[in-house]
Amino acid sequence: MHTTIPRQLQSILGDEGMIADKNRRIPYECDGLAFEREIPDLVLLPASTEELQACLRILHAAGIPVVARGAGTGLTGGATPVKGGVVIGLARMRKILEIDPTNQFARVEAGLVNVDITHACDDHGLFYAPDPSSQTACTIGGNVANNAGGPHCFKYGNTSRHILGLKIVLSDGEILELSEPELDPSGYDLLGLFIGSEGMFGIATEVTLRLTPRAEVTETLLAVFPDLDQACDTVTDIIAEHWEPSALEIMDQLTIQAVEASVFSAGYPPDAKAVLLIEVEGSRPECEANVAGIEAIAKRHGIMEWRRAANDKERKKLWAGRKGAYGAMGRIAPDLYVSDVVVPRTKLRQLVRQTTDICERYDLKITNVFHAGDGNLHPNISYDRRDADQMRRVLAAADEIMRVCIDAGGTLSGEHGIGLEKRDQMHMYFEPEDMEAMLGVRDAWDPSGIMNPGKMIPVRACNEHRPLRFKR
Ligand SMILES: Cc1cc2nc3c(=O)[nH]c(=O)nc-3n(C[C@H](O)[C@H](O)[C@H](O)COP(=O)(O)OP(=O)(O)OC[C@H]3O[C@@H](n4cnc5c(N)ncnc54)[C@H](O)[C@@H]3O)c2cc1C
Repeated sequence: MHTTIPRQLQSILGDEGMIADKNRRIPYECDGLAFEREIPDLVLLPASTEELQACLRILHAAGIPVVARGAGTGLTGGATPVKGGVVIGLARMRKILEIDPTNQFARVEAGLVNVDITHACDDHGLFYAPDPSSQTACTIGGNVANNAGGPHCFKYGNTSRHILGLKIVLSDGEILELSEPELDPSGYDLLGLFIGSEGMFGIATEVTLRLTPRAEVTETLLAVFPDLDQACDTVTDIIAEHWEPSALEIMDQLTIQAVEASVFSAGYPPDAKAVLLIEVEGSRPECEANVAGIEAIAKRHGIMEWRRAANDKERKKLWAGRKGAYGAMGRIAPDLYVSDVVVPRTKLRQLVRQTTDICERYDLKITNVFHAGDGNLHPNISYDRRDADQMRRVLAAADEIMRVCIDAGGTLSGEHGIGLEKRDQMHMYFEPEDMEAMLGVRDAWDPSGIMNPGKMIPVRACNEHRPLRFKR
């Protein structure tokens, strides 16, 4: 990078808005995918859309790669620079700009932490429905870029169902405002196209979110199983019999034990082979019908115990275990590889078994904690990245897991995106022509190819326009 560029950027951002010191750049070398690391040449922390626009004009003119970063909780290396370049963090853009309870929307800056908007509109009886388990840290901008999911997305849908408008700065500094005030807007659905674009189309600075009215009644239930297969089959049957819970989350025995030994302890029985955390929302009669129907199915599958949270405190405790499960896994090994695949919900038992067998064959420790209602498996492998042989086995197992899930009719990602982690697995699902078409779409948004290069689509050089051909 030419020495004049940091000086120009600093004159826009001031000392607070730029990190040049190497030690202070290290925290930006990776996200939650700990084995892919690259320290950026510079970190910029703009405080407004205009500051970001001015910086991008300079970086674009110099052809410097740019990686947007929310909170860095991503699990696929999306916010990790590939070969130096500049990381642009949104941490200083976290204001709530407007809450309109009558029209049920909020306008926020993209660096706002997910859970903060729900806290801010609680008094209005409204909430922001997408609730990734990382919601106390991850940002709305990162959620938009990855089309994030969460336990309650089973009922309410992933992020794309809750975004009404975006302000985006494109690679050359142009500002684009997209909104969907009408039910069926004319023209291409650019908003839909941007959501899930993993920082490769532009940087979102403002987001208009749909707010959802809180249900009259919420019931949280815990079904305790002597067997993981039965927990999976219970979920399959709940869906087949058309019951409508808002969340269906499975945790296996190793997860339960890690949670119970941690500060997130939720009172899950450590001798259980699996628990199914269920939430039901609606009017009192709707809830009672759902609870009775789901309990009958769980009993048919031989539950050891059935619990119903008696109040808000008990409800929060049951959820604290689920939301803290990944943190608790630090007790098992120093590193955690969180795989993210979607499989048909009729095949949950089969795929959980197959993924467990794969990890056992590679002598790896697997835990399962997943959005079962969506068929969104998270086979988690605990490992130590300092051990090269273990690292090799983790990657080989992850590849096999992906292959069996796709062979069973699944897809590459339920919610975490592709990033670096699954870039070289894209060929398992897409033809080279599909990927070439995707590169064409990226070119339309960012012809310079400086936005998050080297992610999602396998190419030889970062901003190449043709995908690499893999042997299928
Ligand atoms: C413990 C734990 C639990 C998790 N649970 C879930 C879960 O339940 N559901 C789920 O979906 N994910 C989950 N995740 C993954 C992660 O939290 C989500 O992918 C989240 O959306 C990332 O948000 P972030 O702000 O941390 O983004 P980052 O990790 O900083 O970035 C993610 C991607 O978004 C891009 N990006 C960031 N901000 C912007 C912006 N303003 N404009 C354009 N691009 C941008 C980045 O370049 C990158 O490609 C979990 C992660 C952890 C660590």
